[in-house]
Amino acid sequence: DECSGCHDDSCASHSAHGSASNDELLAKQALESRMSRIGRKILVLSGKGGVGKSTVAANLATSLALSGKKVGLLDIDIHGPSIPQLFNLTGQKAQLGDEEHTIRPVEFSPNLKVMSIGFLLPNQDDAVIWRGPLKMGIIRQFLKDVEWGDLDYLIVDSPPGTGDEPLSIVQLLPNPDGAVIVTTPQQLSIDDVKKCINFAKKVNLKVLGVVENMSGFVCPDCGSKIDIFSKGGGEKMAAEMSVPYLGSIPIDKNIVDACENGKPYLQEFAGSGAALAFNDIIKKLEDTATASVIVTEEDVKPTEKGAPKLGTRIAIPVAGGNLSAHFGHCESFSLIDVDMEKKEIIGTVSLPSPDHQPGLLPAWLHEHGADLIITGGMGSHALDLFAQNGIEVCMGAPVDKPEAIVKSYLAGTLTFGDNACDH
Ligand code: ADP
Repeated sequence: DECSGCHDDSCASHSAHGSASNDELLAKQALESRMSRIGRKILVLSGKGGVGKSTVAANLATSLALSGKKVGLLDIDIHGPSIPQLFNLTGQKAQLGDEEHTIRPVEFSPNLKVMSIGFLLPNQDDAVIWRGPLKMGIIRQFLKDVEWGDLDYLIVDSPPGTGDEPLSIVQLLPNPDGAVIVTTPQQLSIDDVKKCINFAKKVNLKVLGVVENMSGFVCPDCGSKIDIFSKGGGEKMAAEMSVPYLGSIPIDKNIVDACENGKPYLQEFAGSGAALAFNDIIKKLEDTATASVIVTEEDVKPTEKGAPKLGTRIAIPVAGGNLSAHFGHCESFSLIDVDMEKKEIIGTVSLPSPDHQPGLLPAWLHEHGADLIITGGMGSHALDLFAQNGIEVCMGAPVDKPEAIVKSYLAGTLTFGDNACDH
């Protein structure tokens, strides 16, 4: 900017700039602190409108909430918000929050909080013209000024395409888990969704997977399946683009009815065919979201040779996705970098464990920058070796997902039992 080369503090323009960037910094901190109370943040995107993106976002949120998770659903479609309608919340107004300048999301159920521009406009049918920067401003407020509280998941329903809204949310949302991309099987939709995947790749947003919606129709009378549009296009495209495929959802009239009556489909028609398909997808998504990226040994340079270590590095032995109670039997190690002061996770890497030769693990973990090991149990010889390598060991941790363990460790609520090693 015009002040960047000038160091004259007495200049009016300079101080105006100074305070603006100070405000920005404070706003950024406020947003980050609010978002740090949210576990996983998932964006739902599509190339085109009308493919069922909002339906998928709404049912994903519903299903997670029904399973006991605390969920926020944020509709950032500023021009045509459809989330209020899907939950029969049209006409609801967001109330002022407890803190200054904040608002409360609308509660659909104790586990599901919803926010949409529809709750802020005086009239549902008001046409509002938003320019790009204003859109970014309102999305920032949705993240910073809405009292979301502690959530397990924030699901963001973005308008179709790759315009201002998806770009803003990607720029503003700290540490998103990634995107679920919804398409229908027709070629036209597939062509557009490729743009969406390329957008995600360009902005470093992980693609959690592709969902093919409106994939075939099961006749309610005779049970035969009719592929109204072509079928399998989503899966083929996902393979071509090297992104995970999460599954397909058939056309189901109950989905339309549920949508029109403002009742979440998965809540109303839990046992029906499309609900089972939905649940499969959600299960896969939960697994993808919790599995950390497995990288090969070559991808990660040992810290000694300059790999970026982002804070204190906690190593957790893992088997079957959970902490392995027996240190020596693990399949991989999660290396989780944490900021001990802010008490937050900065990054996670998962490495296949090396051959289990006696004495090798302590040196290997030392080489990979581990400062602390949290494990179920460990033999006394290994303990001595870690001590010699300056690595602290916490034993008797419960079998759970590595990130969950680290979160409770940071919160000071992790309980340690006995050394689970029996030799
Ligand atoms: P988008 O968010 O992509 O614009 P919506 O989620 O609003 O799309 O869905 C568009 C319409 O299609 C809605 O009326 C919705 O009820 C309907 N719909 C979505 N998925 C299905 C499906 N699998 N079977 C039948 N109707 C569907």
